[in-house]
Amino acid sequence: MPVKIDSSADLYRKLPSVDELQRSSELAALATSEGQAAVTDATRAVLGSLRQEISDGRLDANAVDLALSGLESAIIRRVRQSLKYSLRPVINATGVILHTNLGRAPLPASTLEHIRETAASYSNLEFDVATGERGKRDVHLDRLFRKLLDESASAGVPARGPEAGISTIVVNNNAAAVLLALNTLAEGGEVIVSRGELVEIGGSFRIPDVMSKSNAILREVGTTNRTRVGDYEKAINDKTRLLLRVHRSNFQITGFTEQPQIEELVSLAHKRNLPLIEDLGSGALFDLSSIGVNGEPSVLDSLRQGVDVVTYSGDKLLGGPQAGMLSGRSDLIARMRANSLFRALRVDKLTYAALEATLLAYVKGEHDAIPALRMMHLSKEEIGRRAEAVAEKINPSQLSLEVIDGESVIGGGAAPSAVLPTRLLAIACEGLSADELSSSLRVADPPIIARVEDGRVLLDLRTVFPEQDEAIVKALIEVAGK
Ligand SMILES: *Cc1c(COP(=O)(O)O)cnc(C)c1O
Repeated sequence: MPVKIDSSADLYRKLPSVDELQRSSELAALATSEGQAAVTDATRAVLGSLRQEISDGRLDANAVDLALSGLESAIIRRVRQSLKYSLRPVINATGVILHTNLGRAPLPASTLEHIRETAASYSNLEFDVATGERGKRDVHLDRLFRKLLDESASAGVPARGPEAGISTIVVNNNAAAVLLALNTLAEGGEVIVSRGELVEIGGSFRIPDVMSKSNAILREVGTTNRTRVGDYEKAINDKTRLLLRVHRSNFQITGFTEQPQIEELVSLAHKRNLPLIEDLGSGALFDLSSIGVNGEPSVLDSLRQGVDVVTYSGDKLLGGPQAGMLSGRSDLIARMRANSLFRALRVDKLTYAALEATLLAYVKGEHDAIPALRMMHLSKEEIGRRAEAVAEKINPSQLSLEVIDGESVIGGGAAPSAVLPTRLLAIACEGLSADELSSSLRVADPPIIARVEDGRVLLDLRTVFPEQDEAIVKALIEVAGK
């Protein structure tokens, strides 16, 4: 600690007032371009922290003079910082395609365009242009969901009468969809769930908690590793309102396990005249095995098998905006739409526009236009070639770069077993630990988010847009040059 020769009162006297400072030509000019309020706030904050340092005894007269000489530039920096967006793009080099912390699915270009064109002006969100009368916001999407789910569903095994039809409504997210389904169909009654499916999904979604908020009573059956259809059957009583199946999104139970087949649950539910609801979480809209992703149930599979209502997210395997879908028997969906909770959980025009454009890409079969699907589809060889090209542009110096085999993860609550073979750029830097190296990549602009494993930084270009490869080269050269 510096020797204190000046009293702090002397040091405080050296500080200019907010007014004095703002009269400087530089700050006056800044106030004209960025607004007086931002400049005043920044001036107060910078002076405040200087006062704090004086009161903590951390500055002597020389240090205060030095700080005063840099005062204006400190204020300018602070103004610029405060007017920057806090929410900003990052480069996802983790290889986790649907990374919840990084905003899950990046949106297709057509989706962004449709959001822009409908949100920048008025739209027919709830207006029937032909009749001039009030319309429903659902109509824009229901027609597309019917194309994707209904026609093919009736072409499959007719699990229920064709007159029943499939309807879809959209709420804020899948958690909201589950809440709405349980509250509509089971308020005050019991819902039977297997103990092996009482999951918590990252971000505090827990089935038992959602259940209690919906005012339905959880009736657990079976054990963590084994539940049979007979366990459900025994638990059915006159308070039972529905059977719930929850997709085990982020974990696997292996070994001595048993879970009833969906067909068994369907036939039990229908025999006892109860609806079967499935929380799929991730819900693919077509068979993803065609793009190399195996073992992911699709919404259509569940509906074809006779599940009455399926809930799923818009920003997981579907690759669109955050939203929660309820697709299923029209009579049940109509009851959910009539629930006042639906009004509270409904989504805005931005989400309708985003979903409409994303669904249209499905209808047209343009799966590669959806970034999340395109990333799943990338071959290991293609990713490897890009990784080699990045490595070649970097002069080794202190960096050691190697392209190695690895695995990308779908993430976002897709089956934990659904991994994709990839090639990783493994990087080590002399004099830096892997954690230090990865944090120096995070200060790049845009920040680069990497994986750290076994003392190395790993970059998976599967989740990096090809036009971002150059930014990675630049950041690595920068780190190497330090
Ligand atoms: C992801 C997930 C949820 C939560 O979905 P959100 O859209 O994030 O609200 C619920 N259930 C399952 C099975 C999930 O995988």
